[in-house]
Amino acid sequence: MKHPHVEIFRLSIFQKGKLKTEVVTREQVYDFFIDKFEIFDAISKNELTYNPSEKACKYCAFKDKCVARANWIIGGKDD
Ligand code: SF4
Repeated sequence: MKHPHVEIFRLSIFQKGKLKTEVVTREQVYDFFIDKFEIFDAISKNELTYNPSEKACKYCAFKDKCVARANWIIGGKDD
């Protein structure tokens, strides 16, 4: 563990002119990575599957060029 003294993390995102900050504990960070393990594992093996949705693609910088999103739109959106 590189920084054992750090117990609180401030996560910030700046989108559409708004800054949103969330404070999380070390345990919450661990829980997040454990919860997302399968996704990160797939990414590390270059086996990522795209899962377009209104929410997922809303702020994506690649949405105008994404083949998965285009196929999802052509095939009819479920959500
Ligand atoms: S537009 Fe494509 S790359 Fe972006 S979030 Fe949606 S599915 Fe993922």
